[in-house]
Amino acid sequence: MTAERSDGPILRWLRTRSDRVSRKLTEEQCTLLAQKPPEASIAPRPETSAVILHHSATPDGSVPLFRVLHRAVFGWDDVGYHFVIGNGSFSPDGAVEEGRPREATGAHARGFNEKSLGICLVGDFSDSMPTPCQVSSLADLLSELLRIYGLGAEAILLHREVPGCVTECPGARFTRKYLESDILPPVR
Ligand SMILES: [Zn+2]
Repeated sequence: MTAERSDGPILRWLRTRSDRVSRKLTEEQCTLLAQKPPEASIAPRPETSAVILHHSATPDGSVPLFRVLHRAVFGWDDVGYHFVIGNGSFSPDGAVEEGRPREATGAHARGFNEKSLGICLVGDFSDSMPTPCQVSSLADLLSELLRIYGLGAEAILLHREVPGCVTECPGARFTRKYLESDILPPVR
């Protein structure tokens, strides 16, 4: 076995997403890319009328890892989501990590980024479900965001419900019925 390079945890994760890009990077470069970029480089969002839910479609992840993916592989300014809710892999189960600044325009739902917040749950809900801690954190976060922006529950959309978006996100098992029965905050 040859040890031609020593991959750290970020590179090992990135390799599962893009072998081509990961081969061009060192762990040190990844560590820099994982850090929050200057907020001045991110455009403010003109409107907030929707909150869009995503899954990562990966078994594991966190804001720093998605930030590296979105910057190095997709070429974006920062991680595309405003919030990521961990599943205990690279951040604690149910931990809410802040991604892009809440007032910035995200990159998570084509055609809708100028008017929406994006929340990503770590996991692949085509064949698994969010953890109870993720569900609890998501309910709290949604409740807080709806209050802050003066929105009703109808403002919450699954990514695949966004007009013009062709995607299965947030996974076939994460349905509208599941959202409404298991997650949506009760009317207060
Ligand atoms: Zn999505």
